[in-house]
Amino acid sequence: MINFGEFKSLISVINHFHDEGVCKDALAEARWGDDVVCPHCGQHHCAKRKDGRYRCNNCKHNFSATIGTIFENTNLPLKKWFIALYLISSHKKGVSSHQLARDCEVTQKTAWYMLHKIRTLFAQDDAVALDGEVEIDEMYLGGRETNKHESKKTEGTQGRSTKTKTPIFGMVQRNGKVVAMKVEDTKAKTLMPIIKQFVRENAHLLTDELSSYQGLNREGYNHDYVSHGQKEFVRPNGIHTNSVEGFWAHFKRVVFGTYHFVSKTYLQRYIDEQLYRWNTRKANTAVRFSDMFAKSVGIVRYNDVKMVA
Ligand SMILES: [Zn+2]
Repeated sequence: MINFGEFKSLISVINHFHDEGVCKDALAEARWGDDVVCPHCGQHHCAKRKDGRYRCNNCKHNFSATIGTIFENTNLPLKKWFIALYLISSHKKGVSSHQLARDCEVTQKTAWYMLHKIRTLFAQDDAVALDGEVEIDEMYLGGRETNKHESKKTEGTQGRSTKTKTPIFGMVQRNGKVVAMKVEDTKAKTLMPIIKQFVRENAHLLTDELSSYQGLNREGYNHDYVSHGQKEFVRPNGIHTNSVEGFWAHFKRVVFGTYHFVSKTYLQRYIDEQLYRWNTRKANTAVRFSDMFAKSVGIVRYNDVKMVA
């Protein structure tokens, strides 16, 4: 049995997963325990072959413990994948493909691919329901034309324009979870359905003065706002949006500090990665690695393991 509690450092991960056999056994144990089930026909108690794969007595298929996981068909040693899982989940600011390439001795292109595969595991849970005091805010990312290479500049923009910026919409339950996503625009008709999907009725919503948020009271919420335009940042009785702005600040530090540039195409994955980090902030490194490992074989989500406050 693997004791995930022991993985408190990168060294412990490298020492434990010292060869491919150990790695594959760990995957098999995580997904099947001691009853290996055929992924083709559902037959139980499949036997292990000499080459480390499994054989189904019923449909006669041979299969590996990696089948159906993000590691399926990989040419890389699993150890490198597990190191990547560890690094991305333990480093508060993530890990860039350049850094991972050096740490795992793979090409930058391979590292980029690994990180994107892993990011698919961070996909948000659509069933999240925020309640209590929920801060709501929007921010714009990208499009600082002055920082771009000449060939990538957008014509007709003098350095800043919402034409080249992507709006991101976020909702933070104070002392709780955060939900955030890339949106087309910040109009009421775009944002309102999202709020209604993720925030329980009667919650206390705190926003800035954006007109899209007018009408929240009519939708069954208690709504208060601060007028940032009037240089009003905190009103009495805890009316502010500092938590969600803290999330944006952290997100920006990761994007600009670690990743430097994030394309629109993959933006949601980077958001999901940062949400995961925020939503698991009270868990230790070993718990997070264990959770990532479980996600990688598709068994359990962090929500099932341990709720955040
Ligand atoms: Zn079978």
